[in-house]
Amino acid sequence: MNLLPLLEAKRDGGRLTDPQIRDLIVAHTAGRIPDYQMAAFLMAAFFRGLYGGETRALTLAMRDSGEVLKFPNDTRPLVDKHSTGGVGDKVSLPLAPLLACLGFRVPMISGRGLGITGGTLDKLESIPGFITALTSERIVEVVQTVGCCLAGQTAFMVPADMKLYALRDATATVPSIPLITASILSKKLAESISALVLDVKFGRAAFMPTLEPARELARNLVTIAAESGVNTRAFLTDMNTPLGRTAGNWLEVREAVDCLECRGPEDLQELVLHCAASLLVQTGKSPDMPAALNKAAVVLASGKPREKWDQLLAAQGADLDAFNRKLQLDHTAPVVLELVTPDEGFITGCDARIVGEVVRELGGGRFRQEDGVNHDVGVDQLAKPGEPCGVNSVLARVHAATREQGEAALAKLRGAFQFQREPVPVPVPLIVETVQ
Ligand code: URA
Repeated sequence: MNLLPLLEAKRDGGRLTDPQIRDLIVAHTAGRIPDYQMAAFLMAAFFRGLYGGETRALTLAMRDSGEVLKFPNDTRPLVDKHSTGGVGDKVSLPLAPLLACLGFRVPMISGRGLGITGGTLDKLESIPGFITALTSERIVEVVQTVGCCLAGQTAFMVPADMKLYALRDATATVPSIPLITASILSKKLAESISALVLDVKFGRAAFMPTLEPARELARNLVTIAAESGVNTRAFLTDMNTPLGRTAGNWLEVREAVDCLECRGPEDLQELVLHCAASLLVQTGKSPDMPAALNKAAVVLASGKPREKWDQLLAAQGADLDAFNRKLQLDHTAPVVLELVTPDEGFITGCDARIVGEVVRELGGGRFRQEDGVNHDVGVDQLAKPGEPCGVNSVLARVHAATREQGEAALAKLRGAFQFQREPVPVPVPLIVETVQ
């Protein structure tokens, strides 16, 4: 393939045709285009942007670069949720079984944590015996029998994205809205879903630092997904503060179970119910959001999603007895230290970026893609903005592998909290906007 005319066209802001984009992706995935030329394409796309049609063609070409999940006909709609990533974001864990109990099939293909944001697969692998590496056939089988499956991308799904993402990472071309859109949606489209809800986060610990670029990304994702045949809605949510009261793999699994048992935390439950409700409306199972929220809350309170969670764990190889024993433990890391307030007042901020950095430095996250993670470390009992505190109230607990790491984490975590003497008037809303 002679790539030069195509590179020249994109460099000069021209529009590529669908077949040109398809051929480009096919050739690159097959190793017939050198990375330096593909990198030039990515940089041109980064600076010139892509037209809507180009982004759609790129998304579909990437989806078709590998296996697409094939499900038998069934009355239960195939749906999924995707989050752009944050600290303490464990929504997928309670959401998948809740959706299964609401009559959906959920082939939730998830990723690992990178940077300060956690990943669903790392959290799941803190469950004794849980297997995240499943074949496409097994994913389909688990979805058909349990109603949901939480697995990693197989080596055969969207290989184009695996190659392109590594190249983007190495060429500083990750933060491009059309390239992010194609990367996210190609993977979601390979699940053969008919509806998708997106949690696009903005704030100190998010990919998008402010509302404006997050809104642009959300609009782009919703438009391209809809044009590709997937009914999609996006919530723009605040990621200045961690979600829930825990950050760290096992600690987050425990909190997800709390949510399935209707024991909060409030913000996590709010987001889980909104994602579920949105999919009920998007698929015509509920007439509007208030009715859908009510339906989702009733099903969550019924305890069935908690039972479904156990079924899911069993289907994916988990040792349920060991899991339930682990749930009874206060902590699984060797060292637990408390961060307490020096004075009385009200909490005005808990910086999610600092919390994310602390968890990563404790070993709960990765500095490089190939790093392993410690599932037991992290923070819990995080105090939330708006809450009062007295002298020596606990602001958070640090779970560490060693006392030295715990002390260092405690010192850094102290800087995450801000206080004032007077009550905080209006709490910041979690869900700021809906894009549809
Ligand atoms: N997540 C993805 O899957 N791809 C991107 O490009 C960015 C975030």
